[in-house]
Amino acid sequence: RFITLEGGEGSGKSTNLRYLQTLLQERQIDVVVTREPGGTELAEKIRRLLLEKHAECLTPEAELLLMFAARSQHIRHVILPALQRGQWVLCDRFTDSTFAYQGGGRGMDMHAIGWLEQTVQGDLQPDLTLLLDTPIEIGMRRAKHRGDLDRFESEQYHFFERVRQAFLQRAQQMPERYRIIDASLPLSEVQLRIKQAIDALCAD
Ligand code: C5P
Repeated sequence: RFITLEGGEGSGKSTNLRYLQTLLQERQIDVVVTREPGGTELAEKIRRLLLEKHAECLTPEAELLLMFAARSQHIRHVILPALQRGQWVLCDRFTDSTFAYQGGGRGMDMHAIGWLEQTVQGDLQPDLTLLLDTPIEIGMRRAKHRGDLDRFESEQYHFFERVRQAFLQRAQQMPERYRIIDASLPLSEVQLRIKQAIDALCAD
């Protein structure tokens, strides 16, 4: 099984990733926890390239292609081998983030992203995607509070609103694999919903 966790800034993604990992391990599920961009040595180098400040501005096209370059390495060397061994894979962000950030946020053509998705992933799609959705004001306040604003995060509110809307739109297009979780609820409520989604997946 392939599970992805998505969400905007300050949505509680890291805390809930750890919770998900514990939940799966408690069920004796052999799970590989990984992340995007990143997950292999080379893909982590690409992540650093993407997140570092450069004197030269990264074009949106370069950013998009680097995301998929990292993803291709990650799929071939980590995700598919684990799934083939019968392990579960829990991934912090995946292609939905590309549709949201590079598509919604940076305005790259969604069809072009779809073409790259098809080329790099073939039939590979998550079995379950948990989207931690939170209003921008709340997410940004949380992210600022932990002093966690990077090149991407220092940009404007409108960027994050477009990202959020693109996530929600994708969730509506693919309701069978998506669970939208209201991440502005208290953590215990958020985690109850995550647990219910995992129970449903295990019962499948
Ligand atoms: O998941 P995490 O918050 O560690 O991601 C690091 C940053 O990379 C995020 O702030 C996000 O804005 C950015 N990002 C992006 N496009 C993606 C994935 C992540 O801009 N496809």
